[in-house]
Amino acid sequence: MKAVRFHSHGGAEVLRYEEAPDPVPSADEALVRVRACALNHLDLWARNGLPNVEIPLPHISGCDVAGVVEWVPAEEKEFRKGDEVVVSPGIGCGRCDKCLSGRDDQCRQYTILGYGVDGGFAGLVKVPRTNLIRKPDAMDFVEAASFPLVFLTAYHMVVTRAGTGPGDTVLVLGASSGVGVAAIQVAKLCGAQVIATAGDQSKMEKASGLGADHTIDHYRQDVLAEVRRITGKRGADVVIEHVGKATWERSVKALAKGGRLVTCGATTGAEVTTDLRYVYNRELTIYGSFMAGKGELLKVVELFKAGRLKPVVDSTFPLERAAEAETRLEKSEHFGKVVLTV
Ligand SMILES: [Zn+2]
Repeated sequence: MKAVRFHSHGGAEVLRYEEAPDPVPSADEALVRVRACALNHLDLWARNGLPNVEIPLPHISGCDVAGVVEWVPAEEKEFRKGDEVVVSPGIGCGRCDKCLSGRDDQCRQYTILGYGVDGGFAGLVKVPRTNLIRKPDAMDFVEAASFPLVFLTAYHMVVTRAGTGPGDTVLVLGASSGVGVAAIQVAKLCGAQVIATAGDQSKMEKASGLGADHTIDHYRQDVLAEVRRITGKRGADVVIEHVGKATWERSVKALAKGGRLVTCGATTGAEVTTDLRYVYNRELTIYGSFMAGKGELLKVVELFKAGRLKPVVDSTFPLERAAEAETRLEKSEHFGKVVLTV
């Protein structure tokens, strides 16, 4: 098959579009012919290399796969060759206490497709067959590839961790990011008022189009002052954080009494300062969030089927132009998901 692989860590220049051996599935796995695969920051981290994380080389990135079932073992009853599917990106052991209680994201062996194992920047990918999900009919392959990772992450942050409900005000940082476009929509479904930050006028308008009640230009406006103005000095009940060092202190200060800060990433740096006086005086709660249980993704799929969530695709690139696509993501030129087509 053709695949985009890297043989050493580095910038987009290490990506090679080349011939690679077809994956050989086990009896617990299925083989999927990839039609589309979305990009995530995870792909950039794996490509750049992370301290204390060993990525098997050469490596194929890509965790958000939509495609057609190419092969399943005879025991598989639910799916057969030719079925159109989307793949759940989280891979647990399937037999530990965490996996069996629906918290497979806390499994000690947990990994993500395209991160710990080869992913979907390729003609074919092997996946645990329990990770196959039927593709919603109303979606094309590009739309189907665009939602799993960011929507399961946003659902876990907004619903499962923060427990967002009607009457809450949710501040979503970086509305144009994959998590941002998902978090705005999920928070609106919960009945919350949403304030979203974005980097320019056109991104602010797109955020409003997704349901954000208020938008703030995070380059030209004072985000903290704006949040206080919009909330009548009260602050936000929930802050959705994935930026890290550049915004953390402000995110803590933007919270109302009893507020919840949920973080799923630190794209600008992981070492932050927290003024504890805010934490105890205002009885704040800080939640970490990493992926979600497989069951949460199935709930997200039902919301897409019902038309209550919509995929947001920024652009598509053919597989052989993966380096260009990763550069677009790296430079934050996108609004929504950048997707490779195969
Ligand atoms: Zn497990």
